[in-house]
Amino acid sequence: MSMREQFERACEVIPGGVSSPVRAFGSVGGTPVFIASAAGPRVFDTDGRAYLDLVGSWGPALLGHAHPDVVAAVQAAAARGLSFGAPTLAEVELAELIRTRVPAAEKVRFVSTGTEATMTAIRLARGATQRPLIVKFAGCYHGHSDGLLAAAGSGLATAGQPGSAGVTAAAAAQTLVLPYNDTTALAAAFDRHGDRIAAVITEPAAANMGVVPPAPGFNAALRQITAKHGALLIFDEVLTGFRVGPAGWWGLENTAAELDPDLFTFGKVVGGGMPLAALGGPAAVMDLLAPLGPVYQAGTLSGNPLATAAGIATLTLADDAVYASVDAAAARLSTSVGAALEAAGVPHRVQHAGSLFSVFWGEAPAAEPVRNYAQAQAQDPRRYQAFFHAMLEGGVALPPSAFEAWFLSAAHDDEALTGIEAVLPQAAEAAARVRPEPRPVPVTPPKAAKGMVSLVGGGPGDPGLLTLAGADCLAEADVVLYDHLAPYESLQLARPGAELVDVGKLPRGEFTPQEDINRLLIEHARAGKRVVRFKGGDVFVFGRGGEEWEACNAAGIPVQIIPGVTSATSAPGLAGIPVTHRGLSQGFTVVSAHVGPESPRSTLNWEALATNATTLVVLMGVKTLPEVCAGLVSRGMDASTPAAIIHKAASPDMGVVRGTVSTLAQLAAEAGITAPAITVIGAVAGLDLA
Ligand SMILES: *Cc1c(COP(=O)(O)O)cnc(C)c1O
Repeated sequence: MSMREQFERACEVIPGGVSSPVRAFGSVGGTPVFIASAAGPRVFDTDGRAYLDLVGSWGPALLGHAHPDVVAAVQAAAARGLSFGAPTLAEVELAELIRTRVPAAEKVRFVSTGTEATMTAIRLARGATQRPLIVKFAGCYHGHSDGLLAAAGSGLATAGQPGSAGVTAAAAAQTLVLPYNDTTALAAAFDRHGDRIAAVITEPAAANMGVVPPAPGFNAALRQITAKHGALLIFDEVLTGFRVGPAGWWGLENTAAELDPDLFTFGKVVGGGMPLAALGGPAAVMDLLAPLGPVYQAGTLSGNPLATAAGIATLTLADDAVYASVDAAAARLSTSVGAALEAAGVPHRVQHAGSLFSVFWGEAPAAEPVRNYAQAQAQDPRRYQAFFHAMLEGGVALPPSAFEAWFLSAAHDDEALTGIEAVLPQAAEAAARVRPEPRPVPVTPPKAAKGMVSLVGGGPGDPGLLTLAGADCLAEADVVLYDHLAPYESLQLARPGAELVDVGKLPRGEFTPQEDINRLLIEHARAGKRVVRFKGGDVFVFGRGGEEWEACNAAGIPVQIIPGVTSATSAPGLAGIPVTHRGLSQGFTVVSAHVGPESPRSTLNWEALATNATTLVVLMGVKTLPEVCAGLVSRGMDASTPAAIIHKAASPDMGVVRGTVSTLAQLAAEAGITAPAITVIGAVAGLDLA
């Protein structure tokens, strides 16, 4: 049966085909690999194909898979009986092993999963403090109990689920979620709610949003502030415990012995691959649990003899040499991964916490270290998808999500590491071929700002054809400088107190020198006003927007442009004349005819315009219309070429006069057409789609 068929069969009877969501490959795509067996650094799929494994059952396989001594211990325990529902010496032995390594865990209670351990730790903290609230950090994962699912990492980080359905608002409201590594936010939360916070739960080194080590002093700050406010500190070492060192993260960081939390949770390695987890802490806290204390907790299979046997065997075997070899393997592999990605030009960042490491993908993490969940989420997971599948193809099983740590074991010897390293270059190349995520276009339109000039294209006249950004700018302006081409109707959008200046009516009439307009723009901006230069059509089509821009720049005034809908195409459009039309015209040329073809001041090549077979759109050519039309015909344009002139486009008085290039000037004069008007010459002017 192919992987696909097995998965389909699984999906028939198991939701999503899996017993835990991240296994479904949702974040990397494709079909999950069904595993039949595992040994040392390898897992084997149901077709017998071997993979060098970097999942390690998500952490437990510290010694490698199916270590013979661990398997033997479990087999021996199984032969003695699977479960008794009564105390066993094996539990005592495992608790003693834990306490030897982590003396701050004076007493230990066994449960079956990490979820149970954290859930119980929370209940215990509430019972001990008689307070309701819990603080957790975004991106930290503490299992799937209701109150701890808010902004959790791990599977939730990639499932795209904001949290979980089925968690009541009341339960979620008891959890305050803060950014990781942010002592300021922590202090603020305690200032406001300090007397109601039962506990802060943290991953003392976060590894469920990718690997995010604590900033120096962060864990110490947690200890201080919780102690000061009488709240408990819970170190969730389900992942880091007995993995990053003999005494977990606590053992790595606790050099000053100032860092003892009130509770630990352990899981994963402590059960050696069997369902076993634990919580531990000072006797004064732990003795609040039933049967000694009032906080109830129980479990039919808790402290199960097979699980405790696996835990004892694993912890007994996990000596300093094991940790040294896992550390060395992690250092070597993370360096090789970084080098391969570097060589392929893949933007990335490798982050470490002890022997745990992960890769963050994309420009954002490459630019600065990832310190919290928001930064972790800024990575580009598509690069990982490509990398993941190329590695899988090459026989290396990575965690199927960019938000998970890579797990090494003492069984990852030189041969295994060399095997993994051999696949890295092709996987890095696959990641390099992924194009960077297109940058999101800002959805906030530009705003008029104090001391700034906004050059706003007003469109052809109808306020409905002003852009939303232009309308916003106009509504915020302190001063609006407009002229006779600007759509007057839209001036109503300006706020009541705004100063409206008709720069077309300044002394010397319509022909206000551009220098005067520039000077006014600069003066108003210097006075700290929001200045809008409101123009017709588009700012940069035939207006003198370019000069205004330059003048502001030269004066050191910030200036922005808000393009408008140009009249060159919108006026013909409103009149039902397309400027291009398949079969009639494959292009259009827009010219200004403020001087005509016979004027020595015209810089246009009128011979070319007469014969280039594109639609000709003429702006500022009402006075020169007779000269333009005659000039085109004398330079070779067919005299029967259709032509139309559109008058006062987008206003209620809009009118269209149609004819040919030889008759239009006469017809327009008879119709009394004055500026502003736009002429279209070419086959399209013979169409009337309106
Ligand atoms: C895995 C994990 C848990 C949950 O443990 P389960 O055994 O999956 O319930 C809790 N906390 C952390 C930090 C973990 O990594």
